[in-house]
Amino acid sequence: MAHNHKHNHNNSVKNIKVAFFLNLFFTIIEFIGGFLTNSVAIMSNALHDLGDSFSLGLAWFLEKFSSRKRTDQFSYGYKRFSLLGAFINGIILFVGSLFILMEAIPRLINPETSNAYGMLLLAIFGIVVNGIAFYKTAKGNTMNEKVISLHLLEDVLGWVAVFIISIVLIFTQISILDPILSILITFYILFGVLRNLKATALLFLQAAPKNLNVKIIDKELKKDSFIHGIHDTHIWSLDGEKHILSTHVIINKNSSKKDIEKIKYKLKQRLKDIGIEHSTLEIEFEDESCAGYCK
Ligand SMILES: [Zn+2]
Ligand SMILES: [Zn+2]
Repeated sequence: MAHNHKHNHNNSVKNIKVAFFLNLFFTIIEFIGGFLTNSVAIMSNALHDLGDSFSLGLAWFLEKFSSRKRTDQFSYGYKRFSLLGAFINGIILFVGSLFILMEAIPRLINPETSNAYGMLLLAIFGIVVNGIAFYKTAKGNTMNEKVISLHLLEDVLGWVAVFIISIVLIFTQISILDPILSILITFYILFGVLRNLKATALLFLQAAPKNLNVKIIDKELKKDSFIHGIHDTHIWSLDGEKHILSTHVIINKNSSKKDIEKIKYKLKQRLKDIGIEHSTLEIEFEDESCAGYCK
């Protein structure tokens, strides 16, 4: 079992590493190609792939460190490193998008000629590379693989758009099509970036995780007739998946040690069922006054 797990883990790290280097290599070719063909649409795709490379690099880094547990300094482990990485990636893509729009928008008024044959070549390359990656991940069963394959399908479609535009440009002189496509792709990137930045910011600001809040938790815990009251509940998430909770639970003043053990076990189990993996419960008795230190 142990050996098998290690083997699978090493394989997954290796796959991410290969995908990272291929993606990075392709991104560099796109940036050079976009510059040489004078196509802002290619530049938009290059920026998108730069974001993909960054994500893959981050995933590779985190997979390598995923075996590392919490330390004395990082008592929650390394989960939040992925948040920080996603935040940095979002800012890079946001700034990159602004640069591309600054280049593409003036071209709506003063279109520049781009090398249509060069664009066609890059588009075919893009369709083949992303198409193979899509085909490989589409066979996977895990949620993660499904998300990745859907993303790769979008990437293929982005290159199909460049493919179509470059063919049109070979036969016509409608140069404005290149900045129009570029702006569309860039807005699509920006839409995703802003959505991710918002989600990441909420996690950093320790907002309650999606579909949960203090009211819901209190209601859930009070279901038990042993519980007289709940207060000072805090809930937040490490990375959107691993949630943390602390709360005060008021119980009957005559509860025995055994009762307390039972209640703690029951409540922790119930919290686990609604997705809260790590909870800290402070037990208080009915006749105990915590007004001095609670709230
Ligand atoms: Zn992509
Ligand atoms: Zn209290």
